[in-house]
Formats: sequence, C-alpha cells, structure tokens
Amino acid sequence: MRIVMKFGGTSVGSAERIAEAAKLAVASAEQGHQVVVVTSAMSGVTNTLIDTAHNAAKGRWDQSVAQQLLERHKLAASVLTAGNAAREASTADAIARRVDRFDKLCFGLSMVHELTPRLLDAISGTGEMLAAPLVAAAIEARGTRSMPIDATEIIVTSDQFGSAEPLMDETRQKAVSVLGPMLAAGQIPVVTGFIGATADGVLTTLGRGGSDYSAAIVGAAIDADEIWIWTDVNGVMTANPSEVPAARTLPEISYSEASELAYYGAKVLHYKTILPAFRQRIPVRILNSFNPSDPGTRVTVDGHPSATGVKAVTSIRGVSLIAVSGTGMQGIPGIVAKAFDVVAEEQANVLMISQASSENNMCFVINSTDAVRVVKALHLALEVELMRGHVEEIVAQPVAVVAAIGDHMRGTPGIAATVFGALGAATINVIAISQGSSERNISLVVGEKDAAVAVRALHDAFHLERSA
Ligand code: ADP
Ligand code: ASP
Ligand code: MG
Repeated sequence: MRIVMKFGGTSVGSAERIAEAAKLAVASAEQGHQVVVVTSAMSGVTNTLIDTAHNAAKGRWDQSVAQQLLERHKLAASVLTAGNAAREASTADAIARRVDRFDKLCFGLSMVHELTPRLLDAISGTGEMLAAPLVAAAIEARGTRSMPIDATEIIVTSDQFGSAEPLMDETRQKAVSVLGPMLAAGQIPVVTGFIGATADGVLTTLGRGGSDYSAAIVGAAIDADEIWIWTDVNGVMTANPSEVPAARTLPEISYSEASELAYYGAKVLHYKTILPAFRQRIPVRILNSFNPSDPGTRVTVDGHPSATGVKAVTSIRGVSLIAVSGTGMQGIPGIVAKAFDVVAEEQANVLMISQASSENNMCFVINSTDAVRVVKALHLALEVELMRGHVEEIVAQPVAVVAAIGDHMRGTPGIAATVFGALGAATINVIAISQGSSERNISLVVGEKDAAVAVRALHDAFHLERSA
C-alpha cells in the first residue's frame, strides 16, 4: 500500500516527538508499505515566524528570534542524528541556511516596512523547511533512507499568497517524478507541509493549518492508497475536546461530514483537505501520534450513520455577522446581488447566509478580519439605496457560529426542535439560523460569549457522548 502520513506541529514538537513520528513512519515501511511523510513546522514556530514578520514590518526586528529558532532546531538535530556526524552536519547546515534566509528577510522588512502577502508566505513557510530535515534525519537514524523535500519542488499552486490553490496536473507530474523513484528505492521522502510554489517557483502557502491539505494534495498526486493525519487527539471527535470534555472519538465519518465539520470549525482537519481525497476516493484516517494503537477515525464514502442524525457539534469564533436592513428593501431587486458582488470583490469568504422571510433584512457571516473592509465597501456600493432609504443600516457585529452536523439529519424529524429546545433551555439567544439545502448541517449565529455553552447544550441534547 502507498501511504501519505502527515504529522502535525505537536507530533513533531520536540526531538522526542520527532523520534516517535519517525518510528511510526518506519514501522509502516517495514510492513512493506511505501510511505511519504508530510511534516508541519514544530509546534509554535509558524506563529513565531508570523509575529516576527509583523513586528519587523513595524520596525521592531527582534534578532533573538532567529537565534532561538536556530538553537531549538540544531539541538533536535544533534539528538536525532544519534552520533552520525555527517548527517548531523548536513542537517545543521540545512537549518542554518534557512534561519539565515529568514533573518535576512526580516532585516529587509524592518528597513522597507512593507509586508506583502508574498513576503509573509516566504517567511511563514520557513518552519516546515526547518522541520523536514529533522524528521528525515530521525527516519534515517532508524535505518531507512530518507530525504527532506521542499514542497516547492512538487506542489505547483496559484499565486494567491496566503491561501494558494494547487494546480493538480502540474503537481501530479512533479510529485511523481520526484517522489516516484525515491519510493521505488524504498526511501521515505519527507515533504514540507503548508507550502508550495507558483509555476515560476515563488513560494506560496496554503493557509493556516494547511499541512493537512498538503498531505491530501500529495496523496492525490501520487495516487496514494491511504492518507493518514497524525495529530494530538484520537481522531475526529463529536466536539472540540477542549470545549466539551465529554466529547467522544467518531470511529467513522463520511467525506461530506468530514468536510462539513472542518469547514465549520473543527480544527483537527484543514477545511480543504477532504476534496482531493474524495475526488479519488482515497480513504483518510485521523490518528493520535501520542496514542498510536487507538484506531482513530476513518473517513469513508458512507461514514457510519448515527441514529440521532447529528454526529458532531462545532463552533467558529472570530467571525462577524454583517446585516443589511431596511423596511424599504422589500421588493427592490438586486440589493442581495449587489451585496454579494461586494463580498466577492473583497475576497471575503461567506460562512453562512440568512435572510428573514420579510425581506427586510439579509445577513451573512464572514471572518472578522474582513468585516471593516466589507462594511465600508457595502456602504459605497449601496449608496443610492441608502440615500433613498431602501436600505437603512449596514452593520457588523462580532458573533460565533455553532453548527450541528451529520449526513443523516436529512429525513430525521425533530432535529430543529431539539436544537431550539436545548438552546432555549440554556437561555441562549439565537441571532440567525441557516440550514444548508443538503440538510447535513444546521448552523446558528449566537453571541461570542454564548458559543461554548451552546456547543455543550447541543452535545448534551443529542447525547453525543454515547456511541450511536
Ligand atoms: P495538528 O498540529 O496535529 O495539525 P491541530 O491543533 O491543528 O493539530 O488540530 C488538532 C486539534 O483540533 C485538537 O487538539 C483539538 O483541540 C482541535 N479540535 C477542534 N475540534 C475538534 C474535533 N471535533 N475533533 C477533534 N479535535 C478537534
Ligand atoms: N505550520 C502551519 C500552521 O501552523 C501549517 C500546519 O501546521 O498545518 O498553520
Ligand atoms: Mg492542524
């Protein structure tokens, strides 16, 4: 079998964790599988890189960061190369070159004070390039040949810096030609997650948490038989375990459930991960590198239907509800179309939409980072409607979205009643509601401060702590 295995930040967060990850990869190779590893940056590194870049752009360039990164990675290199002096030297050299590049970019930034999305990608993608040589060295120390591979050599993307999209035909060609011979020779290539490059070779990133997506892209490109996401929980759970202590691991979910869960805030999977796997029906597993004997979650075509219809509850924070309202909106065509043109022009991602049946109000949810920009642009685009009084108000309000998700909600009566009963009993005010036409999801807009209580109330109401 050909397996692409992705290790997340906590799974490669220290020399010990990297050694454990290497052990898991080598164990599969020793069972006769072809293994490609995709690695995240060591935990916390990407945040540090991004913060440092933003500070440098404000003229506050903290040189000690480069030194700390160098020390953390070099120390891990010396532990993981286990007395192999040549490998330690080459790993340390690769690390030093990358830290030096980061340092120079930040220095330049502190001079020009302009952080473009392209430059931010060049900086934030450094973490994975520092981690891959370590993981490869750890695999080699266990007796299997391994090399770090920069994903810039195999994942070809659009030039949408910060959330680049793969160009699959080009990626397939490159991935097969780089990884194919290594796999045929019994090696374990270690590919950097999170990053890619445009056709011209400019480094891009796939978005925060994007190493999961990298694994799916690489898996699809080389026709993997399975994609394994090694993380720090036992799989996809009925809710975020840090929010709901009673949350339970779901042994099996469908591609559509996984995709819906990820889209609606379950951080355990990057929201774009499922699509490349689904297109080729590649099974995905989510496994715990801290507890590898647990069977984790399998993502399959049918999933495992739950009797109650609802499989999991998620929440999204850091979002805002934009409301366009006015008693004169009724019957005036085109206001909704204009509003969404603006949102598209501003490249804001709409998480949910709701319109009151009276047509006096339409509202939608976007990331709070886009809210000020979108409200300003809406005021401009709807200037005439505002002047005529058809639209009276355009406002943004910070909120949270809570979603109940499951394929078999469709056709299961009484779900909405249970949702509203539970939220009513918890005295939570529901600001807006939306049910996708797929009926896989009911999402509710609630106040930010109510989100955690709402998630727990729904989890309890559907008895998700019990196995279905
Ligand atoms: P990694 O570094 O391995 O990519 P992440 O931190 O990105 O790990 O994702 C794993 C985390 O996702 C878990 O530790 C958990 O806190 C969070 N999480 C949120 N929702 C869920 C869910 N429904 N099931 C499992 N984990 C979830
Ligand atoms: N290191 C990147 C991030 O923190 C990508 C990932 O971990 O998936 O966003
Ligand atoms: Mg992640």
